[in-house]
Amino acid sequence: MINNVKSKDPTLIVGGGPAGASCAWKLASAGIPCILIDKAVFPRDKVCGGALSTRAAEILTSSGILPVKELEALTLAEHRTMSLWYRDELLRTFTSQSTRVRIISRRKFDNTLLDKAVIAGASIITGEVVVAVDSSSVTTSTGKRFFFSNLIGADGYGSLVRKYISGRRGRGTGLGLEYFIPLSDLNDKPEDIQIHFGYFPYGYIWVIPDCEKVNIGAGAVGSPASPSDMTGALNGFLEAMGISCDKYQLHVAPIPSRELERNLGKGNIYLAGDAAGLVDHVSREGIGHAVESGFMVADCIRSGGDRGIFLNRKNCCISIVRQSMFYRHLIFSPFTRRIAMMGLRDNEEYAQGYWNIISGVESYSEMFRRLLQ
Ligand SMILES: Cc1cc2nc3c(=O)[nH]c(=O)nc-3n(C[C@H](O)[C@H](O)[C@H](O)COP(=O)(O)OP(=O)(O)OC[C@H]3O[C@@H](n4cnc5c(N)ncnc54)[C@H](O)[C@@H]3O)c2cc1C
Repeated sequence: MINNVKSKDPTLIVGGGPAGASCAWKLASAGIPCILIDKAVFPRDKVCGGALSTRAAEILTSSGILPVKELEALTLAEHRTMSLWYRDELLRTFTSQSTRVRIISRRKFDNTLLDKAVIAGASIITGEVVVAVDSSSVTTSTGKRFFFSNLIGADGYGSLVRKYISGRRGRGTGLGLEYFIPLSDLNDKPEDIQIHFGYFPYGYIWVIPDCEKVNIGAGAVGSPASPSDMTGALNGFLEAMGISCDKYQLHVAPIPSRELERNLGKGNIYLAGDAAGLVDHVSREGIGHAVESGFMVADCIRSGGDRGIFLNRKNCCISIVRQSMFYRHLIFSPFTRRIAMMGLRDNEEYAQGYWNIISGVESYSEMFRRLLQ
């Protein structure tokens, strides 16, 4: 992989979402020359609920990429209450003392992170699609060739860089669908986060309000449910709320599933965020993991390529996603789902653990350890 690398070549990042921008920010802040290429022109939209967990917010603020005041300015809503439902049955409602989940606009959030990378000294090239990767360079659709010393694939689901190192693009059966309903269109305005189970296997429907709109969506990871089953379930859910889905645009995007790249790449080629499969299989959280993995890859490059520095980290995004791959079977499998739903309804400790995981204040292993005590 390291053939033809000239030491003066910069580090190259493909993709300017949260993974690529945070990696570029950290490298540039450490004085490492880097170029980030994205096919989109920013600000750009990304199909996403825009929910930031407590853990994600801490990663952003404690690193310095987004100081608390700036995160607050980007926040459209702060939530500390969530209700869990199994179809029509309310299982439980949780209220915490402080904010657990924040809602941001991906358009503004991603653009802000990219601006941070520019201010730190990264070179950003937008509107260029990377169409080919080899061991020392990438080529864009306009025929430009960029040589690299290190390459980072932060190019999201279906990553071309991942395809180059593993021979296949990140595939899986994860899917996210969502509608954005303006608050002004609703008589009954939901105020808190709702999670609704039981509409299709290995997933749930969410209702996430902010100050302008309500995001009503359906997500499944590794689901045997077909896109049409999920769309039918989501549309039926909206109709039952008295919302005519024909009036609104359905946004659809794949969510990485099954294929977690535990080593975050090979040799001098790294993967971060969705390209590495870093989306939680239970909560569908990906933004915080994208930022964290972008930082981890930058740390690794700064240390001269020693992957040991992040592979041994406890409770990092890699181990959380790995644990979620196991836990999703307990909560979603047809064999255990009934018990899991009864547990959420009847067992305070277990239900609290689920809320803690979803809102990023406890990892799966911490929750299991606490429950076993
Ligand atoms: C419906 C849905 C809802 C979700 N809700 C949430 C949520 O509420 N909270 C949460 O934490 N996560 C959520 N996620 C997951 C989250 O959106 C992703 O995990 C996150 O965006 C990953 O960031 P990233 O930087 O890895 O990739 P991306 O944000 O996808 O960025 C990848 C970038 O790479 C660029 N790119 C791709 N290919 C090329 C190429 N060939 N050449 C140049 N540029 C390229 C793209 O233009 C893009 O800008 C949701 C996902 C879906 C689908």
